[in-house]
Amino acid sequence: MSTSYDVINPATEQIVKNVAHLDLAATNDVIEKAAQAFQTWRQVAPGERARLLRSFSQVVTDHREELAQLEITNSGHTRANAMWEADNVANTLMYYAAAPERLFGRQIPVAGGVDVTFKEPLGVVGVIVPWNFPMPIASWGFAPALAAGNTVVLKPAEYTPLTAIRLGELALIAGIPQGVFNVLPGKGSVVGNRFVTHPLVRKVVFTGSTSVGKQIMIGCADQVKRLTLELGGKSSNIIFADADIEKAAAGAPGAVFDNAGQDCCARSRILVQRSAFDRFMESFEIAVKAFRVEDPNLDTAQMGPVISKRQFDLVESYVDEPVAFKGSAPSGPGYWMAPTVLLPKNTQSRSWREEIFGPVVSVMVFEDEAQAIAMANDSEYGLSGSIWTRDVGRALRVSRGIDTGALSINSNSSVRFWTPFGGFKQSGLGRELGPDALDSFTEVKNVFISND
Ligand code: NAD
Repeated sequence: MSTSYDVINPATEQIVKNVAHLDLAATNDVIEKAAQAFQTWRQVAPGERARLLRSFSQVVTDHREELAQLEITNSGHTRANAMWEADNVANTLMYYAAAPERLFGRQIPVAGGVDVTFKEPLGVVGVIVPWNFPMPIASWGFAPALAAGNTVVLKPAEYTPLTAIRLGELALIAGIPQGVFNVLPGKGSVVGNRFVTHPLVRKVVFTGSTSVGKQIMIGCADQVKRLTLELGGKSSNIIFADADIEKAAAGAPGAVFDNAGQDCCARSRILVQRSAFDRFMESFEIAVKAFRVEDPNLDTAQMGPVISKRQFDLVESYVDEPVAFKGSAPSGPGYWMAPTVLLPKNTQSRSWREEIFGPVVSVMVFEDEAQAIAMANDSEYGLSGSIWTRDVGRALRVSRGIDTGALSINSNSSVRFWTPFGGFKQSGLGRELGPDALDSFTEVKNVFISND
């Protein structure tokens, strides 16, 4: 039986739209059509597949205002972020549009003939997307998958399906053939789980919580199904006393409160070297209090609401440690939270160890380089992080010492569509974006051709 879901604007608590959810039979139907479409899509000449992806990119650019507005209304993202996110989809598509003509194999010296390798597409790829960055995370899966010659079934999160549904329509407008890129709104336990169990889905790309990711990994084992996991994080922002402390403090709110802290890369642990602690906290307090939490439609907004009442209650439950200071937030309807800075009592505190996924950050002191590395590594997660120092040697030593996938030095930006992204330890498996992603959407085939 089909069901449906009321999509809520988190800034107003108003219903935006009722979205029909696919049931099991409808999901099977779309997967089978995607498997049929694969037989023709894989044969499309590389130059033509590239042209279609460039066309898709251009159509997304032509609709960037509309897509951004949908995300503001559906997800409460700030206007600046939503525009960046729509552009990120167009850029990711354009980047991977260069791939079909560059999926090089190798020629390996052998006796008695020639040995060559091919990068073959996998078939139908299932992409399961979380609610925090609906557009970019979807495109990090579907763009390289399509470029490599796969067809895609994509399930958006229940809370945030609107931009994905529109991207499915825009793909057709761009000329991507029917059945090649399919968006299936629905429940994780129905549509998402079917991607795991359906034998025609040859690979799953899952971004979401570590707990669901583990279940998916267990499910995929049954068919030895290929899998990329992008999971949670608890990343550190490490500030050494020799750093530009004012710059580090000015950037620290954006590094954790961007997207209301609902960011797997959020630097939700701040580690400050003891001798710089007072100076850092003074500047950090000014920056947090100036951080603009307001109607996400405003150009000036730096943070909107959290996604849901459930998320609001969950995040609030972490504010059980001494509060250093808070920023501000609107009152009235909407799931608004003020940015909050905690001073946990010790490294066993929940707020220090668990991914909060909201606008809450914990600050602790460290004495020296060795302790900073040990504190940062004392986590099951390892996704991103920042290091602030003027000492190049230290920057290198600490970045090599931290077990995490995407670090930035004297900066907080860790995501670019042309560089690899993914986690160590329980933050994930495999890499998205950059040149590496294509390897996880292809199988290497080795062919020996005899001289005889
Ligand atoms: P979630 O794990 O609850 O859901 C993610 C997606 O999986 C949703 O589409 C959901 O419907 C689906 N799903 C749920 N149960 C499923 C099942 N049994 N089988 C198949 N699919 C199922 O996560 P969320 O709450 O939407 O997102 C927040 C989490 O995502 C955070 O932990 C965050 O760190 C993580 N995240 C990680 C990255 C990254 O790149 N590492 C990026 C963004 C978000």
